[in-house]
Amino acid sequence: MDDETRLASAGRAPRDFHGAVNVPVYHASTILYPSLDALEAMHLRREEDDSRDVTYGRSGTPTSYAFEDAVAELEGGYRTLSFPSGLAAIGAALLAFLKAGDHLLVSDSVYAPTRAFCDHVLRRFGVETTYYDPLIGAGIAALMRPDTAAVFVESPGSVTFEVQDVPAIAAVAHDRGALVLMDNTWASPLYFKPFEHGVDVAIQAATKYIVGHSDAMLGTVTASKAVWPKLRRSVRAQGLCAGPDDLYLGLRGLRTLAVRLARHQETGLVLARWLKLRPEVARVLHPALPDDPGHALWQRDFRGASGLFAIELKPVPRAALALMLDGLEHFGMGYSWGGYESLIVPQHPEKIRTIRPWTAAGPLLRIHAGLESPEDLIADLERGFARLGQAR
Ligand SMILES: *Cc1c(COP(=O)(O)O)cnc(C)c1O
Repeated sequence: MDDETRLASAGRAPRDFHGAVNVPVYHASTILYPSLDALEAMHLRREEDDSRDVTYGRSGTPTSYAFEDAVAELEGGYRTLSFPSGLAAIGAALLAFLKAGDHLLVSDSVYAPTRAFCDHVLRRFGVETTYYDPLIGAGIAALMRPDTAAVFVESPGSVTFEVQDVPAIAAVAHDRGALVLMDNTWASPLYFKPFEHGVDVAIQAATKYIVGHSDAMLGTVTASKAVWPKLRRSVRAQGLCAGPDDLYLGLRGLRTLAVRLARHQETGLVLARWLKLRPEVARVLHPALPDDPGHALWQRDFRGASGLFAIELKPVPRAALALMLDGLEHFGMGYSWGGYESLIVPQHPEKIRTIRPWTAAGPLLRIHAGLESPEDLIADLERGFARLGQAR
């Protein structure tokens, strides 16, 4: 079955819901039992790692199971859990597999709040984090210690777009008994299949492409069969769960993910190629461009590119940049991405990175190509560059 077909069917069960095409939104906390026998049987079943019982709103409802089943199928993992945000999913995944005294390896290009979680939360619980060069590949062997319990990858980095050699990193990690956790948000479950590349735990900020309309916060963690029981037990003990309306928006978003992503990819490439020819642009950071340093790995491991990439401008005064950005009509200035609308936002990796310092002379702008007409987007950028030139 192709992913397009999967997206149309995954998690659905019309016969369970009076024939309704979509799974209903279950608003539920309390679940009632008709007898003492039923109540006690539930207590036995809910201890099983594969239990799908509906016992209490926090522990799973038909709405959350539908969304989680669909994501697990698409990522190619065993089971998925959903979370109130992508960052909550990242934190829960790390807490599930790390303990005091463990060592963690994290890519220097990782999403900045993930880094803050390692530095400010994990550190307090006795987990030591070492950041590594995202381009390290099999060289990660030199950083592995006897106490290294996990390696965290994000490929490509969602600000600077280095593509990581995930299979090479996973081979080393597994050889040393460490797990591989991956933030797979950029590619979505459609364009990178984490479990085919050695990942044990795959994370989505579903807020981005899965929800796809900039109107809900949602995260997922998908586990291989081997690590699922540990994940489930840890998350259950923490009490994290996503709200039913947001889960529904996640399910709704999945149905159109393939067509939206194809368009994001296409428009992103049209913009990237056009931007490459602009005299104001020093560099375009987009792994699907043939001369990008990550292109060969991207071509080997990925099935497509999403609409998120970056450009490095030649040095410009701040006032000129403000004139360019403030006047854009179709590009919103805001964080996040993955919605239908185009975005552009300055990023500052030079303030964050420690292992592969960011030393570009000009500003770094991250662009999310939305679903607008590429011609309108290019015209908007062209007028922006004209303002930039006038101000210089
Ligand atoms: C946005 C984002 C997250 C966090 O997701 P939220 O739902 O905003 O908490 C994690 N990883 C990446 C790469 C992101 O872009």
